[in-house]
Amino acid sequence: IERNREGYAPLYNPFEQFFSRYVYRRVRHIFNRPISSTPGAELTLKERATDDYNWSFRFTGTERRCINLGSYNYLGFAEPAGACADAAEAAARQYGLALASSRAELGSTALHRELERTTADFLGVEAATVFGMGFATNSLGLPGLLGAGALVLSDENNHASLILGLRLARVTVRVFRHNDLRHLERLARRAIAEGKWTKIVVVVEGVYSMEGSIVPLRALVALKKRLGLQLYLDEAHSVGAMGPRGRGVTDHWGVDPRDVDVLMGTFTKSFGAAGGYIAGSARLVACVRAQGHAHAYAHAMAPCVAAQVLAAMRAIASPAGAARVRRLRDNTHYFRRRLRAMGVLTFGHEDSPVVPMLVYTFSKMAATVEGLTARGVATVGVGFPATPLNKARIRFCLSAAHTREQLDECLAAVEAVVDEVGLRYSRRR
Ligand code: PMP
Repeated sequence: IERNREGYAPLYNPFEQFFSRYVYRRVRHIFNRPISSTPGAELTLKERATDDYNWSFRFTGTERRCINLGSYNYLGFAEPAGACADAAEAAARQYGLALASSRAELGSTALHRELERTTADFLGVEAATVFGMGFATNSLGLPGLLGAGALVLSDENNHASLILGLRLARVTVRVFRHNDLRHLERLARRAIAEGKWTKIVVVVEGVYSMEGSIVPLRALVALKKRLGLQLYLDEAHSVGAMGPRGRGVTDHWGVDPRDVDVLMGTFTKSFGAAGGYIAGSARLVACVRAQGHAHAYAHAMAPCVAAQVLAAMRAIASPAGAARVRRLRDNTHYFRRRLRAMGVLTFGHEDSPVVPMLVYTFSKMAATVEGLTARGVATVGVGFPATPLNKARIRFCLSAAHTREQLDECLAAVEAVVDEVGLRYSRRR
């Protein structure tokens, strides 16, 4: 460990230092890649010199147009055209980009009110409140809801923003195996028998982006009703993308949304925007506003962002929007089926538009991302610490905006790279 003259360690973590020198260093060129276009069905990557280190990029001047299977644009609303872009532009002209205030002060416009009303109606619950950042919706919303004496039962694959929120809430957390309701029930019954908790709250996600798995919501709601538990559901990857009407996993499973105590979601995936929401009963939403730190202490969502989300939400509820949801589903089924036929290992539910492909090691992950980029396909590799060390994966994100020709081009690239890197685990099926 480095020390300064007075004998103190530097501010940065020595583990990170180790990681960037020895492990991350070998694969760093596949991360932090700058782009110079909107992240639509296609995007433009700026190429860097490969010897860059610690963000001191040197651009080579070359740009590469790629089909985009790397960023979340489930319904194609990240494209800079049409009604959403017009609404966002008009709002920027009317209100500017920043409100210079929190929601509780001078940061609430008519657009925020309208978005909150529309979000609650869209989800089928009483009320909603919106935040400028999806991550902070969890990390600041949870401490506002969970007081002393609460016990949280948390899925082992929950997102970092949920884990941070639980830490800030300073509650007791017990982790259950991913999507394993038998394990959850055992933990819940033991907690009930202890008799000392003010409330027992289950925290889960709708679709898990590292696994492509879907929460078994119908059985979970039955369990929570049977045992008197409460349920916090993060729909970052499912709202807009799942269910016949794009209303999320409640829609997918045919569950009454009012049976989920807290519906949380983000606007960064299906709505092509930024921010998040917490929705549920009017009393719950009032509590999040009053007790969560974001409403009073963080800058409000930018009005042009609110306008974009509103336009996208209305579009999803229209017949053309329903067609987008269907196109996303068709693209997802097609892509998953073709990957399986290729003999690679993929994870997740058939309907999940995030499709993780197992590549095992960091080095294969880097080689796969590089090989795909060279063939004009932009993807994201995910490895330790976001996954176990030997379960690195490529995460393909499907979009309603992808044409069948684009997907075929991507699949041909994947097939070539899979052979190059040695990823087939079985003969073709
Ligand atoms: N929850 C989940 C499940 C997520 O996957 C993410 C981000 N990918 C977030 C919350 C944070 O949302 P945002 O990126 O919109 O800040």
